[in-house]
Amino acid sequence: MIKKVLKFGGTSLGSIERIQHVANIIKKEHESGCQLIVIVSAMAGKTNELVDLSKKITKNFNKRELDVLLSSGEQVTCALIAGALNELNLKAKSWLNWQVPILTEGEHTNSRIINMSIDKINKFLKVGVAIIPGFQGVSKNGDITTIGRGGSDATAVAVAKIFSADVCEIYTDVDGVYSSDPNKIPVARKIDKISYDEMLELSSLGAKVMQPSAVQTAMMYDIPLEVRSTFTNRKGTKIFSQENIDYSKSVTGVAYSRDDAKITLLGVEDKPGVAANIFEPLNKAQINVDMVIQNISSDQKTTDITFTIKREDLLNTKLILEKNNSIKYVDITYNDKVAKVSIVGAGMVSTPGVTYKMFRGLADESINILAISTSEIKLSVIIDEKNTLRAVKKLHTIFELD
Ligand code: ASP
Ligand code: MG
Repeated sequence: MIKKVLKFGGTSLGSIERIQHVANIIKKEHESGCQLIVIVSAMAGKTNELVDLSKKITKNFNKRELDVLLSSGEQVTCALIAGALNELNLKAKSWLNWQVPILTEGEHTNSRIINMSIDKINKFLKVGVAIIPGFQGVSKNGDITTIGRGGSDATAVAVAKIFSADVCEIYTDVDGVYSSDPNKIPVARKIDKISYDEMLELSSLGAKVMQPSAVQTAMMYDIPLEVRSTFTNRKGTKIFSQENIDYSKSVTGVAYSRDDAKITLLGVEDKPGVAANIFEPLNKAQINVDMVIQNISSDQKTTDITFTIKREDLLNTKLILEKNNSIKYVDITYNDKVAKVSIVGAGMVSTPGVTYKMFRGLADESINILAISTSEIKLSVIIDEKNTLRAVKKLHTIFELD
């Protein structure tokens, strides 16, 4: 018998009407003869509301208690869904994190699921639908823990793995993964099939359909995923390993984000150890450096180094660089009005000329490239923020994604 994990996000559960609608989806799936484990998020906005409440007490709210507070959002939806299913004459039962139990390790508010017990739920699946709250678990010593914001995707994938489900379906408010942001690029198309690697790149690069770490886990254990809409009947996007996909196009999607900042150190001494001296304190402060470019020095004595970081780390990076007297430079410039535009596609590996085509396209739009980075299936450039959508549209067109 087919076993499915169905995960419903906060928007899908945002009101009583929606919860009843979700119950109907679950009922139909169950009638088609599948065993179902349902993972729920809190109602849309609920977790933020709870965070705000804690802040009214203190900004440094005790993390153990914060986990008790935040986990309550999913307790509500678990019970409401189970109740709504019972109303439809379907047997359903909720298990809270400590009842399963879902074991976690790591610190409060940022734990990881390591295991869960399956016997009693597996037994129940023969007669009804099991409902499990996303985003939480219980530690070795019995404390409630949460696994990081947006964590119910991770719960769904972990449950799919531990229960050996055939598929993990992520129900959300969009009907799949698109070749670019459909809100800004009207010609963007829904992708029917995509590989884990591509999905991972796209979600890390700004396509906010699924939590990247959950995609990573699914890839590691080869768990087929499907992202689909709660609000339409249409087929979603299937995510699985590359062997299952025929690549007719070199590029699968164009992503963009406006989360980066660029820093340039001008006239840095060109001698061994300088780059290490620059990046060591950043590393210590856990600031993630993304792209790095070093120019060839013309005078053999000095060079320029450009790198990018997350925009939210800019202030901290500035402080660290300016008080670092082990590096000598002539000037330093900061630019947080930049965007990162990326093309992603597993088909790139076997298609020559993709890099040239991207640069040519941007040149034709007179868009200046400020930094470049590549991986096997991705090519990213940093450009002026004001050119973002023009660049995305152009690339979407020239790679035949419209
Ligand atoms: N309710 C949690 C959050 O808002 C988990 C989730 O929705 O995935 O972060
Ligand atoms: Mg959510």
